[in-house]
Amino acid sequence: MKLLIANGYIVDPAQGINTGRDLLIEDGRVVSVLERGQEAPRDVEFIDATGLIVAPGFIDLHTHLREPGAEYKETIASGASAAVAGGWTTICAMPNTDPVNDSPAVTRFIIEQAERAQLANVFPIGALTKGSKGTELAEMGEMKNSGIVAVSDDGRPVPNAEMMRRAMEYARGFNLTVVDHCQDSSLTAGGVMHEGRWSLILGLKGMPAAAEDVHVIRDCVLAKLTGGSVHIAHVSTRGAIEAIRRAKEMGLPVSCEVAPHHWTLTDESVEDYDTNTKMSPPLRSQDHVDALWEGLRDGTIDAIATDHAPHHADEKTLEFDRAPFGITGLETAVGLAFDLVQRGVIDLERLVALCSTNPARIFGLKDRGTLAENAHADITILDPTCEWVFDVGASKSKSRNTPFHGRSMTGAAVATIVGGRVVYLNPNYTRITEMKSRDASAK
Ligand SMILES: [Zn+2]
Repeated sequence: MKLLIANGYIVDPAQGINTGRDLLIEDGRVVSVLERGQEAPRDVEFIDATGLIVAPGFIDLHTHLREPGAEYKETIASGASAAVAGGWTTICAMPNTDPVNDSPAVTRFIIEQAERAQLANVFPIGALTKGSKGTELAEMGEMKNSGIVAVSDDGRPVPNAEMMRRAMEYARGFNLTVVDHCQDSSLTAGGVMHEGRWSLILGLKGMPAAAEDVHVIRDCVLAKLTGGSVHIAHVSTRGAIEAIRRAKEMGLPVSCEVAPHHWTLTDESVEDYDTNTKMSPPLRSQDHVDALWEGLRDGTIDAIATDHAPHHADEKTLEFDRAPFGITGLETAVGLAFDLVQRGVIDLERLVALCSTNPARIFGLKDRGTLAENAHADITILDPTCEWVFDVGASKSKSRNTPFHGRSMTGAAVATIVGGRVVYLNPNYTRITEMKSRDASAK
């Protein structure tokens, strides 16, 4: 089947394309971006993207699905459904399920469940250590053969430098990037929010920014020692940004991602003890948020990742000290990223690079993150002018833990195409897929 996405504005940083063109896809692959003036073929299905941005499909490097083990919070299918509703064509599933994804059997199970759902691509991330216990390296090679795209013990930091060194050396042999949740546990034990003025006012135990800085600096040093690639998950501190900036200047294989809540909110949001403001790393003070904006602006930050972390309402309604860390994020990330565009922090091309081009490169996802010839036909169609209000009641996720319910946003993903199939269409944009043959529409 041939499909023409016509009259859109194509933004593909991987090819340096930033212009109004038509895009032709066939059998799940990109045929080509048509040259200006090139006549589109006849007898194709036809999507009208007038006034919309056509981008390579967005790739989330950091999603927590809860299957296997806690399907009441999220299944692979419900998470994939939330993903495509938020504009993500690919999500990378963190291994902290029950059982942990530290074996080919769990890896294959995740892939099979995702194929059954037929929504987003779901690429598993394998555990770094067996059971993510931090003591014995997992069988990375076997998992890689079964389909993992990276390794991580996310949720927990890699506890010591010796283990991190061995993990980076071992992962390097399989061409796998190590993703680290950077936090020195000896500095954060018992902490529930950022350590600073607000933790004092609220009487909550704080986690100092230094706990993240120490681990990020450690990982940069070890990247130099081992030559292995490290990807810093959810950076949230000025010190982390500065260390990564220096590491990149030195040419070290270090990359990083930021989650929308960390650049959008500060620790002041914890004021009402709303557990939807409890996450790890915690919401930081304004100075750290400023540093994230600088990192987004100057390219130190490579990727936007959701850190989607669904939890059941019964758990999140516990008192602040006892509630679990994390919020959902798949359906709000793109709207919050557009906020950066409106504020002039980044431009549209950089938004696409942060959400698609760079994530594909960091995990080595072949033929994704671009609309080049023969790339997978994973496409995110965006309307930068769409005004909407996030209603958690309409969320596709099984969980409701978000601080962004009721937030007004401008800019949204309005259609999501995976492998050439339209898997999500914003209900207000049905006109764009009143697919008709080119011949009929031309008359
Ligand atoms: Zn994490």
